[in-house]
Amino acid sequence: MFTIDAHLDLSMNAMEWNRDLRKSVFEIRAREQGLTDKPDRSKGVVALPELRKGNIGLVIATQIARYVEPGNSLPGWHSAEQAWAQTQAQLAWYKAIEECGEMKMIKDADALEQQVSLWMNELNNKKSIGYILSLEGADSLVTLQHLERAYEYGLRAVGPAHYGPGRYANGTEATGHLNEQGKALLKEMERLNMILDATHLCDDAFWDAMDIFHGHVWASHNNCRVLVNHNRQFSDEQIKVLIERGAVIGGALDAWMMVPDWIRGKSIPEQMNCNLEKMMDHIDHICQLVGNALHVGIGSDLDGAFGKEQCPYDLETIADLQNIPSLLIKRGYSQNDIENIMHGNWLRFLRRAWG
Ligand SMILES: [Zn+2]
Repeated sequence: MFTIDAHLDLSMNAMEWNRDLRKSVFEIRAREQGLTDKPDRSKGVVALPELRKGNIGLVIATQIARYVEPGNSLPGWHSAEQAWAQTQAQLAWYKAIEECGEMKMIKDADALEQQVSLWMNELNNKKSIGYILSLEGADSLVTLQHLERAYEYGLRAVGPAHYGPGRYANGTEATGHLNEQGKALLKEMERLNMILDATHLCDDAFWDAMDIFHGHVWASHNNCRVLVNHNRQFSDEQIKVLIERGAVIGGALDAWMMVPDWIRGKSIPEQMNCNLEKMMDHIDHICQLVGNALHVGIGSDLDGAFGKEQCPYDLETIADLQNIPSLLIKRGYSQNDIENIMHGNWLRFLRRAWG
């Protein structure tokens, strides 16, 4: 079934993990044998051949670069200008990979319909993978003029926060209201008709953003706090407000967000019973809360600095997203519901946002 994945960090993997994503997952793993600089070396699950194999013809793909102040131990750049330059390197990779026909930037309604038609109607194994460009964490926007420049090259969604303190908004594992710069960013995003990605906003910033921002909101990769109690996940109150705003929420496949009590670097998926069924629990919770299956999708995050060691044990590569429909059938979801979850809800959102 045609599938949309609303969160992948493809260019980060190309530029910081040095992965040639045109190669298969297995070739990339082989080349990384013996490397120990990242926890997911030789354990990656995402590459372009596996996206094709999984019929994943459209993704939301990020640029991502954090700014860190002295004393902040998170990985990141020491100035906003360096962070901006890193996102421009990531953009250059997307452009280079487009030039060899592997991917195609989708930034308006016409291109969206062409891409959907290509993947729904044409049979060939060399189809380009469409990507909508999103910025995960806004630290790299040196000024608001940089946001407009980014819109011009194709950026269509922004998540103002990531982990920890941010220049515009504080994120996961942090607290604190939006500063003036953060409020101004949201107003400028609204003017440019950019999508707000509510994912990673800390609770204070989330509620501020819901007040200030009147444009289109989604949550590209977010699970449920009632199942895994941490501020990375949304509470039922947050989910309800997002739904009122017409949001779609993408279920994420990062093990620590799927099952409670996960300890990074220690827990093992099999021992924690972390399998694809757990994603169904999160998706089903949102559907039961809302009373329909119109506001959930997939935002796998499967290349977000983790691989096999921190994802469902019954997933070998991202192509295994194709096992989700059968799991939803077992839970009583209709064919129509399943099509909506696999692609229809994201498409409806995008058609409305860009219509
Ligand atoms: Zn993320």
